[in-house]
Amino acid sequence: MPELPEVETVRRGLAPAVEGARIAAVEQRRADLRFAFPDGFADRLTGRRITALNRRAKYLLAELDSGEVLVMHLGMSGSFRVSSTGEDAKAGDGFHFPRGKNAAHDHVVLHLERGAGANCTVIYNDPRRFGFMTLVDRRHIDSHKLFAGLGIEPTGNALDPAALAGHFAGRAAPLKAVLLDQKIIAGLGNIYVCEALWRARLSPRRAAGTLVRRDGTAGERLDRLTEAVRAVIADAIAAGGSSLRDYVHADGSLGYFQHVFAVYDRAGETCQRPGCGGTIARIVQSGRSSFYCPRCQR
Ligand SMILES: [Zn+2]
Repeated sequence: MPELPEVETVRRGLAPAVEGARIAAVEQRRADLRFAFPDGFADRLTGRRITALNRRAKYLLAELDSGEVLVMHLGMSGSFRVSSTGEDAKAGDGFHFPRGKNAAHDHVVLHLERGAGANCTVIYNDPRRFGFMTLVDRRHIDSHKLFAGLGIEPTGNALDPAALAGHFAGRAAPLKAVLLDQKIIAGLGNIYVCEALWRARLSPRRAAGTLVRRDGTAGERLDRLTEAVRAVIADAIAAGGSSLRDYVHADGSLGYFQHVFAVYDRAGETCQRPGCGGTIARIVQSGRSSFYCPRCQR
């Protein structure tokens, strides 16, 4: 399943192809993916210009000049590829894709115009069809059910210890559960929670409230955890995202970040922290696997 760093990698791969482009035609090949497409989906897209491609949590948001936002979620197996057409293949260089996917799973094709000789198609492929697309009025997007109540983005400066302290204070719930709560941090998945806790040397079982001082301010451990969350996400984005299944990046290449996971899926292996010597354990919390080193994560 694509996690937030993959989605951000896809966004960065697609943005140069779609931003500023006009949607000349839409091929919608099914009535639904995970959910039905909205009424008039293709008509509402056709002729519109994409002014920006943004991301919120694991959603891609294509801003349209109609005032609507095309919201896209990759589900379990969704991917995009971009094909340059005509004589401009060289111009689209980095975005010229080998046809590695079964075309039977190409569900939506956007034909984009970027001016003379710079047309391309953006193809959404999704074998398992857990992904979806919908159209939302930009004026109401913050209160839309997909976005209302979403927590802090784990990228950038919005995530700071003071903001997290307010959510952690007094909580007896384990760190693992609190970090997976999308209402606190948006888009942080199981893999990156495990990795962040290892980097911060904190046990996934530790009560979240123990990271906050009596006066409600962030303790040293919460400073460490915040930095670790930002760092694992930034590193994963830099590495081009991870790939645990048959997941292809926007640039057609397979991800590779899984090779540098320190604890995720490494039960029984020796902890990589210099001088630790502990053995990575797997436990189940809230129905999800947690991988951690009981020796150095406290
Ligand atoms: Zn260790």
